Amino acid sequence: MENSSAHRVASVEAVIVDLPLVREQRFAALNARGQSMVLVFVRSSCGAEGVGEASLPSGPWWGGESVESIKVHIDEYFAPLMIGEDAFAVDAIMRKLDDAVFGNSFAKAGLEMALLDLQGRVLNTPVYNLLGGKVRDSLPVSWPLATGDANLEIEEALGKIDARLHNVFKLKMGAVEPAKDVERACAVARGLEGKAKVRCDPNGRWDETTAAWAVPRLADAGVDLIEQPLQRWNIEGCARLTATCPMVHMLDESVCSLQDMQRIAQQRAASLISLKLMKSGGMRRSKVLAEMALAAGIPVYMGTFLESSFGTGANMQFCATLRDLPYGGELAGALLVSESITQRPADYHDFELHLQDGVGLGVEVDSDKLAAFRRDRNYSLHAVSS
Ligand code: MN
Repeated sequence: MENSSAHRVASVEAVIVDLPLVREQRFAALNARGQSMVLVFVRSSCGAEGVGEASLPSGPWWGGESVESIKVHIDEYFAPLMIGEDAFAVDAIMRKLDDAVFGNSFAKAGLEMALLDLQGRVLNTPVYNLLGGKVRDSLPVSWPLATGDANLEIEEALGKIDARLHNVFKLKMGAVEPAKDVERACAVARGLEGKAKVRCDPNGRWDETTAAWAVPRLADAGVDLIEQPLQRWNIEGCARLTATCPMVHMLDESVCSLQDMQRIAQQRAASLISLKLMKSGGMRRSKVLAEMALAAGIPVYMGTFLESSFGTGANMQFCATLRDLPYGGELAGALLVSESITQRPADYHDFELHLQDGVGLGVEVDSDKLAAFRRDRNYSLHAVSS
């Protein structure tokens, strides 16, 4: 039996990593060419190490946090609170962090991930065994279509189908006026009819009038799921839309905290909930949120913030513990960034992402890739050569 008191947190290091994207990704709020994340390294007094990833959908537009703010909060506030604590006491540590720092769920999720990885490595077991055990080995994964050009998007989708990578596609919307956006989505849905499922995500950019106009048109064209068409605060509007929506109505931005989930369950404001480790502050709380949704008869879906191959592996560890994912998920971040920062690339085949076996999170950072893509690499190189 391992003596966990032997594993005190000795150091916490946050490293910003910048990775190029394979193509431009047009979100409602910006056009992204790169994707940045923070890798968190927690080391214990006995030399064990755990790694976590705090990932963002290309900047602070979604959740308010940025890779820069995450690093500052970890360096200045979270790390000093964690040093000397029992590294296995994840619940106690996370409560301490919650008491000391409001919000910052992305930073907290990255830290919790590193603690769970460390614990899994010391105990020589995968993280899924710390979260209730494995019930699945793979996840059907959708691909984001986000260039804004319907013909290019149909071509991109057909390529993904041919490669047996994806047969579900999610159109990022909200960057242009709704009429143009709906026209594009309908063209893509019709172009892929009978070959793939097409879903839409306006990232909360529509009001109720726009959604009431757009949703039936999208349904007519064959779109089977709409994600967060309405502003995140408009739970009453979401409930009205759910009651009349001819397709699955998934909420994402509206559901971050357990209190959000409680309100959505009470008001029947969604027919599907997107889980994301970062927005809820980590794996343990996301697990509770999933149980709350299921208890209310609302299924869950595995969302993404475009994680690297490391964060994708970590998300798959979490996902392995979720039995009910009737609409799959979207853990495609590792394919959207052009570089793998893990020793093994993420394993996508037959339209699914596959769990990688191994202790902890089952993924190992490639130190050469980390050296090449860490933001402070110039500073480090200069320090070595001078
Ligand atoms: Mn979304």
